[in-house]
Amino acid sequence: MNNATRTDQAELDIVLLGQVDETAVSIVAANLQAVMGLNTRVQPPREKPEYAYLPGRGQFDAAKIIGALADLENMAPFVLGLTVFDLCTPILTFVYGESQLGGRAAVISLQRLTDPDPELPLLRAAKISLHEVGHLLGIGHCWQPDCLMHFSSNLETLDALQPQFCSACEFEMVRRLQTQFPKE
Ligand SMILES: [Zn+2]
Ligand SMILES: [Zn+2]
Repeated sequence: MNNATRTDQAELDIVLLGQVDETAVSIVAANLQAVMGLNTRVQPPREKPEYAYLPGRGQFDAAKIIGALADLENMAPFVLGLTVFDLCTPILTFVYGESQLGGRAAVISLQRLTDPDPELPLLRAAKISLHEVGHLLGIGHCWQPDCLMHFSSNLETLDALQPQFCSACEFEMVRRLQTQFPKE
């Protein structure tokens, strides 16, 4: 029995809302593992989140989806929704992702990440996922333009981010993860 201190329990569940490209799901899970050390588990796909559809905008209410994800039972402590449907909030025309600060659930959309380079949308999805899970840990936005916790409202800003946290955010992330998931 080696490595006995490591827990095999999932710390984050990825919940697919409608059909999502398998490669994108794998890349997101791999980055959450590699950059944040989170044990992730992918749940079977669920239905399109019609309950969050806003007919007037033709978009989906990110907060409603997050509320529904947070209410799911038998889930890991963190729940990350992945969808291809366009997300918005009352004050923003669209969001790449949305999260409960210091909470349980987040959601990201692949809708606006497309590019002729097939690898770029995957990298973008990974960055947004790491950013939103950073918020779940209670980390706010960072002024460093290349830090994962920098706010992105367009692809140019998003593409300028390194797929890693700056040293200050990294320190906070590790400290908060150790509090939430003690592994010694
Ligand atoms: Zn943010
Ligand atoms: Zn930072």
